[in-house]
Amino acid sequence: QLGAQSVDRAVDSVCPFCGVGCQITYKVKDERIVSVSGRGGPANEGRLCVKGRFGFDYVASPDRVTRPLIRRADAPKDVAHCEAAPDWREVFREATWEEALDLAAGGLRDLKTSHGPKSLAGFGSAKGSNEEAYLFQKLVRTGFGSNNVDHCTRLCHASSVAALLEGVGSGAVSNPVRDVAEAELIFIIGSNPTANHPVAATWMKNAAQRGAKIVLADPRVTDIARHAWRVLPFKPSADVAMLNALLHVIVEEGLVDEAFIRERADNYAALVANVQGYSPEAMAPICGIPAATLREVARAYATAKSSIILWGMGVSQHVHGTDNVRCLIALATCTGQIGRPGTGLHPLRGQNNVQGASDAGLIPMMFPNYQRVDNGAAHAWFEDFWDTKLDETPGYTVVEIMHKALADDSDPHKVRGMYIMGENPAMSDPDLNHARHALASLQHLVVQDIFLTETAWLADVILPASAWPEKTGTVSNTDRMVQLGLQALQPPGEARADLWIIQQLATRLGLPWDYENSSWLRNLGEGQKPISLETTSPTYHGVAAVYDEMRRAMHGAIAGITWDRLTRESSVTYPCLDEADPGQPIVFTDGVPTANGRVQLVPADIIPAAERPDADYPMVLITGRQLEHWHTGAMTRRASVLDALEPSPTVSMHGDDLARLGLTAGGQARVQSRRGEVTLTVRRDDGTPVGSVFIPFAYREAAANLLTNAALDPFGKIPEFKYCAVRVLPAGHM
Ligand code: SF4
Repeated sequence: QLGAQSVDRAVDSVCPFCGVGCQITYKVKDERIVSVSGRGGPANEGRLCVKGRFGFDYVASPDRVTRPLIRRADAPKDVAHCEAAPDWREVFREATWEEALDLAAGGLRDLKTSHGPKSLAGFGSAKGSNEEAYLFQKLVRTGFGSNNVDHCTRLCHASSVAALLEGVGSGAVSNPVRDVAEAELIFIIGSNPTANHPVAATWMKNAAQRGAKIVLADPRVTDIARHAWRVLPFKPSADVAMLNALLHVIVEEGLVDEAFIRERADNYAALVANVQGYSPEAMAPICGIPAATLREVARAYATAKSSIILWGMGVSQHVHGTDNVRCLIALATCTGQIGRPGTGLHPLRGQNNVQGASDAGLIPMMFPNYQRVDNGAAHAWFEDFWDTKLDETPGYTVVEIMHKALADDSDPHKVRGMYIMGENPAMSDPDLNHARHALASLQHLVVQDIFLTETAWLADVILPASAWPEKTGTVSNTDRMVQLGLQALQPPGEARADLWIIQQLATRLGLPWDYENSSWLRNLGEGQKPISLETTSPTYHGVAAVYDEMRRAMHGAIAGITWDRLTRESSVTYPCLDEADPGQPIVFTDGVPTANGRVQLVPADIIPAAERPDADYPMVLITGRQLEHWHTGAMTRRASVLDALEPSPTVSMHGDDLARLGLTAGGQARVQSRRGEVTLTVRRDDGTPVGSVFIPFAYREAAANLLTNAALDPFGKIPEFKYCAVRVLPAGHM
């Protein structure tokens, strides 16, 4: 670490990677970030993982897009560029901002005129700020004229949110991660926190050291198992069988909290009837966990003074993801393990701002603060608030939009043009060959990003955006903490602030937003000093103005978190309904925000994975992340330390499978599914279940999502990234 005297300035911000939301300080010298240190934020208390501490030099990568680019007239949209890119000058030419913005907006406007509002769609980003998410969804809803707006929440916890909204009336966590310090039992399911939420994992390990029992339920036995009291390596996709068996024991052995159920829950009788057929003895062969272990864990969870459940995408990324979470809600409710310190339900949010982007309305069925677009009162409120007519039908989700891009010309809802800000569906979507062809088929694609991502290679116009350290804004972490990050650097070259770009497009789409000529801008003065705004004018002079309007749009959650307060306190937890409210880290203490204030229990039955192994494709593919790389790798693979630690794609397999298939660790293997093939380096990992392979999805040269299945959970519309059928062959084997 450099001392204070060695740097030009130190700027407080928030880590741009995972949803833990560690507070950081950027040390800047000669207009470059030279180091990052942890701050005493409520989520991290100075702790950082390797990504937060060393993953910053992507910002100064020579790969940054620093001028607007326009596709050359003679350059076809070639999906092969997503894997092997030529010199960018062969495909794009540099342009002025004026030309690029006119072309970007003009193409979108023309499609709307000729084919209607549903012909357009927008993907925003969970990597951007709350203000960017808010303004982006407002542009789509008021400018494109439909609710075809979504982002990567669809790919991570959409099923969790669907079940939580249905069951407890709120899609966010009930208790913060650090509440594990108050828990006697910590039930971790479908999560590898050491890799994916590393600082959160340190709080769990600390809790285990002081005596808390960790139960790890996951097909993959990962690092946190070393700290676990019991490990349940259940068979991939057998979540409902295992969770219903736990519920069966709790009901059968009278471990339910009857008073809690009577006072706080509906539909208990149906739940009891449903779990009758799920005895541990019957479910053991299905889920692969001995009946005695299931009974032991069920008793421990139910009888602990405080038990908390934390889960990751191993739960949510299934066609039965919503059912998985319904079971978790039932577990917590039937045992009264909710509404107190050390209890509750915590979906570990993935991206740094996926909670905030969802809260801000970057989803096709909800206005900001989860107000349904098809709810008459909510619809009328937002029509009044934004002073415009709004579509009252939910829009299409991420994968549905890809399908609609390849729809027949006669389909009135065929998607023909898109605006994608900071999202990389050409790497992150399932069945990439399909998704990339869908993107390439668009008549007009505008991409706003900091790099020439795999998605950007298919764009008509590329708008160079700002990286997180180059902007001031708020993000909301997995604990519902709204946190402020301050600008440390200027964007390079002609790259511009994302809020500025969105507003320039809005102006060209005829929306009455006028950033640069706003009276507020003139009144603001230099920098982004704290302000308090009294009007709802749709004109923005800076991030504080956008935040202020968003705060009013989300008055039921963040009314008490003013911009002034954030600049003073840096982090405030919602719900926070007035300025005297300290914020509420633990919710559901005396009810849940459903229509009648009671938990709605929903029984779940076993639904098999959409694509099961067979003779041709006998193994199961599980995709996910690894400690050093973040999502599609656009940032972390350009961070020198992280890239040095994990430079190339790997497939992890159990030693028994390596021996059976004639593979050696360090050698190469081909992994094939019905949709594609990749070649990777073999890594032995005996925590990977026999018969399965694990592949991280960060590597463009062996994109895991070429293999995955686009089958969706019917409620959350989330793809089944955690399960599809593959076969593995030694490289060179035909
Ligand atoms: Fe960043 Fe998450 Fe690591 Fe914290 S735990 S430093 S938020 S990546």
